[in-house]
This record gives sequence, structure tokens and C-alpha cells, in this order.
Amino acid sequence: SSCGKSSFAKLIAKEIGYVYIDSGAMYRTVALFALRNNLINDGQIAKDRLVQDLRKINISVKAENEENITLLDNENVEKEIRSIAVSSIVSEISTIPKVRQRLVKIQKEIGKKKEIVMDGRDIGTVVFPDAEIKIFMKADAKIRAKRRYDELKAKGLQASIEEITSNIRERDYIDSHREISPLRQAGDAVVLDNSYMTFDEQMVWFKNLLSDKRLMTI
Ligand code: C5P
Repeated sequence: SSCGKSSFAKLIAKEIGYVYIDSGAMYRTVALFALRNNLINDGQIAKDRLVQDLRKINISVKAENEENITLLDNENVEKEIRSIAVSSIVSEISTIPKVRQRLVKIQKEIGKKKEIVMDGRDIGTVVFPDAEIKIFMKADAKIRAKRRYDELKAKGLQASIEEITSNIRERDYIDSHREISPLRQAGDAVVLDNSYMTFDEQMVWFKNLLSDKRLMTI
């Protein structure tokens, strides 16, 4: 969590003219739906009711100003899905098998059009096991917290470093330990530790990876 994967994925997509899709935004949108519909009480999720309501959740992705935005019932929810309220329940929501089933289906459908860059914890392992390039990103925990802090601040959302650090830790734990599609590195993924790398350096790294890959396929 918060290792800069969406920023990096967006840059890559732009570089190669592909479409960027944020799979985490979809899990966040389901979490927002649950919050709005009072399916969370004292941090407890009414899982059965959420699963019953899954069909009603209308999630879509739309291109706007050269970026993709996430819509819930045609409403732009990009800002709200990044809030701490959503962040603190999304990992629990994403352990629900029926939620994963539904979202993975949408993601695979989007993938049929090819030429996409998708980021997320199970993309290389479950959603697109045959992806052409898989990158597994990681970064130092403190640096990740600082990045998330700056990101939220830039968006006008408030949270303390302590709150963010504990949220990142908790999400990492739940995401890596859940039964279905846990966060793990695909065997054929290339690792990128970007703790001390600028975006420019990450792009150079990516371009090298791309040219190695092209050489291999010629
Ligand atoms: O990527 P982001 O941090 O916005 O994702 C929010 C949450 O959604 C993650 O903590 C994880 O629980 C869940 N998620 C997932 N599988 C994905 C993408 C996100 O379980 N492919």
C-alpha cells in the first residue's frame, strides 16, 4: 500500500499510450457504497447484506481530462473514495469473496480490450496471469506513509502521519493474509523498490525493462 503504484502506473500508461485502470478504486467504491448505505456499524460490516446488494452497485470508469475517474451510479466519487473513512474499511471489504468475484469479472472484461496498465494486489497473480509485463512494487514503510500524507494533503483531505502509518500497516497485514487472492508477488514479476527513486528514475528503469522485453520477443 502507498508505494506509489498508481502514480507510476499512470506514467507508464502515458509513456506507452495505454489506458490506466485503478483496481483499488473499485474496492474503495464498494466500501463507499457500504458506508453510505449504513452497512457498517462500529467498524463491523454487514457482509450478508452487502453481498445481497452487490448487484445494485453500479461501478464504472470514465475518461475525463486524460485521466480515468471512478463512478458510482454515474457520480464522480474519486475524492470520497480516498478518505480515511473508506481507507479504514476497504481491506476488510476486499476480503469478501463475492466482492472480489464481481470486481475481478469487471477487471477482466476491461482487459479484453488490451493495451491497459492496471495496478492492484492480485493483478499479476489472479486477474491477468498472462500479462505481458508484471511489476511488483515495494518501498520503505516510513516513506510510504509520508507519500500518502502528502497525497491526501494535496487533495485537501486531513489525516495525521500516525493515523496513516497504522492504516497502511493494517491494510498490508489484511491484504497479505486474506484467504482469497492475497497480496503476493507473481513468480514472473520484476521487483521495483522505489524507496529512494524519483519518478524520472523510475521511468528510466521502466524503459530499460521495456527494451529488454522487446529484445527478448524479437
Ligand atoms: O490500491 P489501493 O490502496 O487504493 O487499494 C485499496 C484497497 O483495496 C487495498 O488495501 C486492498 O485491500 C484492496 N485491493 C485489493 N485488490 C486489488 C486492489 C485493491 O484487494 N486488486
